[in-house]
Amino acid sequence: MKLILGGGVSGLSAAYYLSQRISPSKIYLVEASNRFGGWIQSKQNGNVLFELGPHTIRPKGEPGANTLQLIEQLNLSNEVIPIHTNHPAAKNRMIYVNKELHLLPSNLYGALIKRKPFSKPLLMSVLSELFQPQKQIPDGDESIYDFIERRFGKDVAEYAISPLICGICAGDAKEISVHFLAKSLFELEQKHGGIIKGTIKELFQNSKKNKIELCNLAKRAKSEKWSVYSLKSGLETLPLTLVNNLQEKKVNLIKNSPCTSLEFHDNKIFAKFKDQSLISDHVISSLLANKTAPLVEKQHPELAEYLYGIPSVTVGVVNIEFKGAIKNDKLNAFGFLVPPSQRIPILGIIFDSCCFPSNDSTVFTVMMGGKWFEEYFGTDPSEQSLLDVSKKYIQEILNIHNECESYEVNILKDCIPQYTVGHVQRIQNIYKYIDKHDMPLTLCGTSYSGVGVNDVILSAKNAVQKVL
Ligand SMILES: Cc1cc2nc3c(=O)[nH]c(=O)nc-3n(C[C@H](O)[C@H](O)[C@H](O)COP(=O)(O)OP(=O)(O)OC[C@H]3O[C@@H](n4cnc5c(N)ncnc54)[C@H](O)[C@@H]3O)c2cc1C
Repeated sequence: MKLILGGGVSGLSAAYYLSQRISPSKIYLVEASNRFGGWIQSKQNGNVLFELGPHTIRPKGEPGANTLQLIEQLNLSNEVIPIHTNHPAAKNRMIYVNKELHLLPSNLYGALIKRKPFSKPLLMSVLSELFQPQKQIPDGDESIYDFIERRFGKDVAEYAISPLICGICAGDAKEISVHFLAKSLFELEQKHGGIIKGTIKELFQNSKKNKIELCNLAKRAKSEKWSVYSLKSGLETLPLTLVNNLQEKKVNLIKNSPCTSLEFHDNKIFAKFKDQSLISDHVISSLLANKTAPLVEKQHPELAEYLYGIPSVTVGVVNIEFKGAIKNDKLNAFGFLVPPSQRIPILGIIFDSCCFPSNDSTVFTVMMGGKWFEEYFGTDPSEQSLLDVSKKYIQEILNIHNECESYEVNILKDCIPQYTVGHVQRIQNIYKYIDKHDMPLTLCGTSYSGVGVNDVILSAKNAVQKVL
């Protein structure tokens, strides 16, 4: 029997891929809470849809193509609503600096002119990279902020990378590893002395990339130039459809049952839950690393220590609806992000109505806290305080003073892991420990090789391949 811990999209995907290879009745997926889907949660609120977690998925690369293949296999292709690269939500992304919104350059023309808050045209910062000396980094890791500052200057680190890191993992670019987003750029510098130099050299080195076989939906995404996409009834449709698929196949899906410990004896795992125990021959844990840690701590304290080494942060999410379609030039964008140097409690605001417009209402999603959650909100903030902060910044920054029609406030505790400097080494220690002790345990989910929906679905597929 194979046991999967966690019923978010990665646990459900692991069950799906496993059910294609072994008898579904031999698969048990156990979820702690009273619902499946994890952080993917879409709430229909009258006429509007509030996304509490992820809003959109990117179609690009192998992970993107893999998710599209899953969507196609689940017969959800007709549910997809793409945002094309020429849509304002794809082109217009802003940052909030010195109490003003600034549009980030999105094409060559934008990179050629000097735009506030940058002190010179972005293209000049890029070209100046050619003249920066190479620095060998002894442990093979540094913060993404330090790396970008070294190669492209402070402006780019401060106004492009810092807000981007806030938007992707709600973290501090000064702590997050360069391998999180800029692995290939870092490797080009370490190998060839510079990013531009390295890119040119590698162009001539005939490096053959493995071409991935694209499914029909991925081919469509490529030819129609999708930037990102969502699903008609919200992204939660994906985990819910996975649940239906698994139930039809008679995979054992159990809710309301947090796992409390895993004990390994004679190639078997004895898993304890709130009201029951299960014996399995392999466990796939899709939980956050720091939630898998306490389960193995008693028997494997060293492994637990490595797992605890991957921290996570809390994000406050406020979805807010205003009556009618608010006309305002600023709102013709995906939204804006706030560099941490601006010292305000919000990470950014998504303009949902630019992505998916309606005549009846205007919807925003305010994200706040992250790495700085406790600093701004303390340990136990009220929902009202988060709502008040959201309204204040919507008024101040977007100049919207209307009464809000409806809202939804959620505090997503420990929702995004942080790949801090040393992450690659930490992961290697974890895998080495599991291999050395021949443990029938495989890990997937957000803590290891990417925090996005695509990454965790691919991590589940890879986990299943490893198990088999
Ligand atoms: C605010 C926010 C915005 C995001 N935006 C985007 C976006 O726009 N695009 C994108 O691609 N990604 C985005 N992400 C990331 C995306 O949501 C995640 O990659 C994905 O949802 C992770 O799924 P998962 O199954 O790995 O983890 P989870 O969703 O965390 O699922 C883990 C499950 O395990 C359960 N569990 C915990 N402990 C136990 C236990 N002891 N026993 C049994 N079960 C347990 C939990 O209840 C949960 O259901 C966002 C995330 C957040 C939080």
